[in-house]
Amino acid sequence: MRIAVYPGSFDPVTNGHLNIIERAAKLFDRLIVCVMVNAEKRALFSLEEREAFLHSVCAHLPNVEIDSFGGLLAAYAKEHGCCTIIKGLRAGSDFEKEFQMAMINRKLNPELESLFLTAEHQYMYLSSSAVKELASYGADVSELLPPQILQQFQQRIRNNSDNKENEK
Ligand code: ADP
Repeated sequence: MRIAVYPGSFDPVTNGHLNIIERAAKLFDRLIVCVMVNAEKRALFSLEEREAFLHSVCAHLPNVEIDSFGGLLAAYAKEHGCCTIIKGLRAGSDFEKEFQMAMINRKLNPELESLFLTAEHQYMYLSSSAVKELASYGADVSELLPPQILQQFQQRIRNNSDNKENEK
């Protein structure tokens, strides 16, 4: 059985992420979408919330599982029998960083391949942080996020800006 892992922050999952998940799921018997704990990034959503979002937007994909992990990805892949790491590659920004990560992961686990799927053109400049920034200025982000999570996302953005107003 060929198992791949797709790691990321998914804070929150966007249509760009979902596009990569749907395409990668066709290539492997099982795909694990793994929310990676990153102590340096302050997340808008908790780990549990991000996992729950992924569960709801991947419900139509029977070979996709959701998990989370706080250690080294190469170790996770080995432990779960994954042969491949999936990464999405957007215009410009991702290449250097991802190339370096792929080299490190291969050194840590020579059996592990990194597979890069190029972003769909309409999502080429889409990131979770861009969606959060746009929404905080009141922009319509309904074409950028899966419909299942839109309401909860907008509510959190509203609560956040209310809290910031109260702190002033
Ligand atoms: P971000 O916060 O920048 O969206 P994540 O850590 O959640 O980043 O991204 C996880 C993975 O998904 C990375 O491999 C990233 O390159 C990829 N990715 C993120 N957004 C997109 C997109 N719009 N299209 C394709 N791949 C993407």
